Amino acid sequence: MSTSPDVLIVGAGIAGLSCGRHLADAGVCFEILEAADGIGGRVRTDQCEGFLLDRGFQVLLTAYPEAQRTLDYHALELRNFSPGAFSWFAGRMNRLVDPWRTPGGWREVLRSDFGTFLDKVRIERLRARLRHSSIGEIFARPDVSARQALKTIGFSDEFVHRFFRPFLAAIFLDGDLGFSSRMFEFVFKMMTEGDAAVPARGMGEIPAQIASHLPADSIRLGAHVEALHETEVRLGSGEQLRARAIVVAADGPRAAHLVGEAEPASRSVTCFYYAADEPPLPHPMIVLNGDGAGPVNNFAAMSQVAPTYAPPGKSLVSVSVLGTQQLTVQQLGGFITAQMKQWFGPVVSSWRYLKSYRIPHAQPQQSPGALEPPERPVRIRPGVYLCGDHRDNASIQGAMVSGRRAAEAVLADLGR
Ligand SMILES: Cc1cc2nc3c(=O)[nH]c(=O)nc-3n(C[C@H](O)[C@H](O)[C@H](O)COP(=O)(O)OP(=O)(O)OC[C@H]3O[C@@H](n4cnc5c(N)ncnc54)[C@H](O)[C@@H]3O)c2cc1C
Repeated sequence: MSTSPDVLIVGAGIAGLSCGRHLADAGVCFEILEAADGIGGRVRTDQCEGFLLDRGFQVLLTAYPEAQRTLDYHALELRNFSPGAFSWFAGRMNRLVDPWRTPGGWREVLRSDFGTFLDKVRIERLRARLRHSSIGEIFARPDVSARQALKTIGFSDEFVHRFFRPFLAAIFLDGDLGFSSRMFEFVFKMMTEGDAAVPARGMGEIPAQIASHLPADSIRLGAHVEALHETEVRLGSGEQLRARAIVVAADGPRAAHLVGEAEPASRSVTCFYYAADEPPLPHPMIVLNGDGAGPVNNFAAMSQVAPTYAPPGKSLVSVSVLGTQQLTVQQLGGFITAQMKQWFGPVVSSWRYLKSYRIPHAQPQQSPGALEPPERPVRIRPGVYLCGDHRDNASIQGAMVSGRRAAEAVLADLGR
């Protein structure tokens, strides 16, 4: 930037970009310092041989209120997953549809042996309760583990094992369902009220759209902030920069290092991508590991959701394994292929490995109590602010809200 900025933001993920957008709207001069070679943080998309590879399986829940306020969904050309899921158990694919949003869905749900009759009644009751609860009310409820919450509602163990366990693990990356029941209810409400979608050109379009509202020269890439002292930062290059306010918008572990707080625990995930000649499943629906055997927790034929994710005549397959395994890519790939052959047959031998991502810090761990209060303070000390999903909750919504809250605090303190 030509003039020295009033505010330095450390990190160009969703939170840092959202903070910048609110500062830009208020006419405040700022610069975002980003260590990586691109913006987006955990929400990035790579191009590989004409395929679009999101860095880990991820979706935008269109009901997120902050995303609705911030993003132009039409310009993102969102492509929706079909609501519901397939679950592999008993040696076959079992489909659970959303009866409200699937033609003939009620008949299918009532006839299916996927879940007991009471499970189906309880899921509808849960949906109705969440529809009538505000997000604020959900985050004010007593916080227990999702496992405990599902038990209290009365879902059968089998239904939890075959549906909720792998479905929620695909989102919260915790197969033990030890995360906050508040997050479970919040995300289930969002799924009930909107779609799970990806932009036609990949999840990376979300941060790109936010960044398009920022002044052209307001983001500096390859600028790793090594240290923070009062309102001055030192870059890896040795350069020192000072501003009236510093907003640390780094991920939880690296933010903790910069501001001297305790590091949050991490949930991690590994994602493998394959090119296929034919989609193994013709439906744009997530597929879950409902029998618990094998490394793969969830699977999606991404090009069935968004055909732009694969070149013409090809299909893109995404496979998620919880944690960052100690195995080599070849070893883990071997286990994945063996499991996928059980699900989809010998055609899996023709899949071509494209790339894999091991993401040690995909989300901060959100155990019961971690979200108390639901919005943690963004003012750390005079002139220093903190935002990121670890300040609110681990989602695109949480990151956006935290960025806005940090910007509002900065603006108030700068008297703007
Ligand atoms: C695989 C995966 C799947 C997910 N699925 C979903 C989903 O389906 N739906 C959903 O809503 N959310 C999902 N999430 C969570 C969501 O992506 C995150 O909560 C959100 O993107 C966090 O944004 P952030 O800005 O807080 O942090 P980040 O995206 O981590 O951004 C922080 C930025 O700070 C930079 N940085 C860090 N340290 C420094 C430093 N010292 N100097 C300069 N720059 C620095 C980093 O390079 C990074 O760009 C998923 C996350 C992952 C990884």
